[in-house]
Amino acid sequence: MTIQAASDALVSLNGVNKHFGQLHVLKDINLQVKKGEVVVVIGPSGSGKSTLCRAINRLETIDTGEISIDGKKLPEEGKELALLRADVGMVFQSFNLFAHKTILENVTLGPIKVKKQDKATADKDAMALLERVGVGQQAPKMPAQLSGGQQQRVAIARALAMKPKVMLFDEPTSALDPEMINEVLDVMVQLAKEGMTMIVVTHEMGFARKAADRVVFMADGQIVEDAKPEEFFTNPQSNRAKDFLSKLL
Ligand code: ADP
Ligand code: MG
Repeated sequence: MTIQAASDALVSLNGVNKHFGQLHVLKDINLQVKKGEVVVVIGPSGSGKSTLCRAINRLETIDTGEISIDGKKLPEEGKELALLRADVGMVFQSFNLFAHKTILENVTLGPIKVKKQDKATADKDAMALLERVGVGQQAPKMPAQLSGGQQQRVAIARALAMKPKVMLFDEPTSALDPEMINEVLDVMVQLAKEGMTMIVVTHEMGFARKAADRVVFMADGQIVEDAKPEEFFTNPQSNRAKDFLSKLL
């Protein structure tokens, strides 16, 4: 394994602070994620995990600090932002598929609109992605005709269609019936194995143990621990993490 300088980070947050009114939601966050790394973010509800993800995708502004993707600082707005955002795929808890478009159209919309791909190429690429996540046969259907697990796999395919450099997952399985969780996690594990850079907010500790290079534990807007999964799970350093894990396991 080669040791990379911090500046080689694909995703880099330096001194990031964010308030919602009086509430200090992100407190001096420093986080570097290298190419191919899988970072699982865990922590109690309200600790700032979603805000962190949304800030990385610039769905949320930050007050101070800097976020860069592949060495490029996140721009404020405009066309540049749309392109940079395309580098960051995001999958949410609620699948957020476009309800009035087919599964195939859900996946081709971004490449056609943002990346100006021609329809034939976009269709072909989208079909390959849908096959890859195991829902190729669903391509002509509408989102409501699919199960939650299938819809979430479509959401992953849709994000991948933009050829992102990093994928963010914000509790991608929390809204799913238990029997569908694994079909989504399996796709994510596969993606991790293929070398995708991933930041994953999840309470699925099995996924963290299997796929994470690092576990980042957040509490009260701060990164409290940042360790390899085996270290974190067997020997958490802080009382906050010990307490959190004891309630989880
Ligand atoms: P987590 O994902 O870890 O549960 P969030 O990032 O969603 O935490 O929220 C962190 C804190 O910020 C919570 O106290 C939440 O209520 C608050 N918060 C999140 N979004 C907003 C918002 N748009 N306006 C005001 N407060 C918010
Ligand atoms: Mg959240």
